[in-house]
This record gives sequence, C-alpha cells and structure tokens, in this order.
Amino acid sequence: MGGPSVLRLVWIYPDLLSTYGDRGNLLILARRAQQRGIPVELTEIRSDQPVPQSADIYLIGGGEDGPQALAAQRLRADTGLHRAVGQGSVIFAVCAGYQLLGTSFFAKGTQCTGLELLDLYSDRGPSRAVGELAGDIDPRLGVPPLSGFENHGGRTHLGNGVSPLARVTAGVGNDGASEGAWRGNILGTYAHGPALARNPALADLLLRWAIGAASLPPLNDLWADRLRAERMAAIRT
Ligand code: GLN
Repeated sequence: MGGPSVLRLVWIYPDLLSTYGDRGNLLILARRAQQRGIPVELTEIRSDQPVPQSADIYLIGGGEDGPQALAAQRLRADTGLHRAVGQGSVIFAVCAGYQLLGTSFFAKGTQCTGLELLDLYSDRGPSRAVGELAGDIDPRLGVPPLSGFENHGGRTHLGNGVSPLARVTAGVGNDGASEGAWRGNILGTYAHGPALARNPALADLLLRWAIGAASLPPLNDLWADRLRAERMAAIRT
C-alpha cells in the first residue's frame, strides 16, 4: 500500500457542526485505518483556529442553521480547505457540512454563500425531511446501498459538475430522487447515523482515496452488517 505513513484526519469545527453525532465518522475512519496498520493523527479544528491544508481527510458534520452559516463564513475566509482540495485531499461532509460545500444554502430564511467546492445549491423544502434514508450508490463507487438517518429542512439541487452519490430508495435525500453528491475526492451526504458507522464500505472508499490504494484488507463487519440489516428491515415494515 502506498500513501502517507501517518493518515491525518481533521474534524472541522466541533464547536459549530457537531450536533448530530457525526463525529462518529472520525472514529470509524481512525479505527478502520488502524486495523489495517495505518497510524492516524486526529486533529479537531475549532472555528477560531486556522484549517491546516496538509491533512489527508477532512470531515464536516451537520448542524443547526445559525452555526452552519457561521461555519461557511469562517471557512470561506480561512481558505485552508480550498487549498487542501487543490492538493487532492479528501472531504467527507454531512448535511449542513454538505450544503455548505455548494454555491449557496438557506439558513434562518437567508441565502448564504457556500464554499463553492461542489456544483450544487440548496434551498428550503416544503417540510422537514426526518427519518430513514436509503439509496443505491453510484455504481462507479463500488459500494453497497447507503443506509442512514436524515434530518434537514433544505433541499439540494445538483449542477452538471457533480454526480449524485445515490438514487433514493427510502427518504428524501437531495430532492426525493437523488441523495448526496461527489466529485473527485469530495463526497457529501445527508446521512447521519453516523454515516460511516452504518456504511463501512463508504469509510473504506474514503480511506482508499486518501492513501491511493485500489483495495484494503477486509475487516470483520459483523456489527455493522447487523445494524444495516436491522435498519433496512425497519424501512420495509
Ligand atoms: N440546517 C440544515 C437544514 O436543516 C442542515 C441540518 C443538519 O445538518 N441536520 O437543512
């Protein structure tokens, strides 16, 4: 396996975007890397700190409207994340974190400028989307169906410069038809849960992007498989 000798993971703005348990994604990535013998370095960057541009994977979680708008403002001013993307770093963003990667989103009735890292924008939907979220992931990513939990008022519209992450089979996602988006090494989703605990293959995809590996040694995913089966069964009942 090539790639970095230490995998540097950065959790962006735990003081603003940590209301939905998405920090679990950081723990899952760290654990799955360590189980493959890859040492990890975890850094939590609060919103009054500069974003380092040299990390391998950046994670951004969900949040309420106010903190989401503030996070977008600070990340735009900081530019560290933009420079990291320019160097090929991986970004995994959830819900508010996903919306703020686009060109604009609505928070507390006001249109806010996003980071313009993904060709998409978000507006408000007719009602809040809350509940199980599932979908068939873009076959090019080679990952089994997405399983997650969504809780958002926004709806997201994708431009031509980005691909949907999945085709919705339960829940709303972006707009009731597609869910999430990806381009290059940037991937966004509405799935909480946290998403990577419920979708270990997605975690491994991000790790493979970060270390430039075509595959990783398999792990025992018994508990994740049970959780996925239970949630998929809950959707059917
Ligand atoms: N505030 C955003 C919305 O409601 C994102 C919410 C979230 O991150 N769960 O659409």
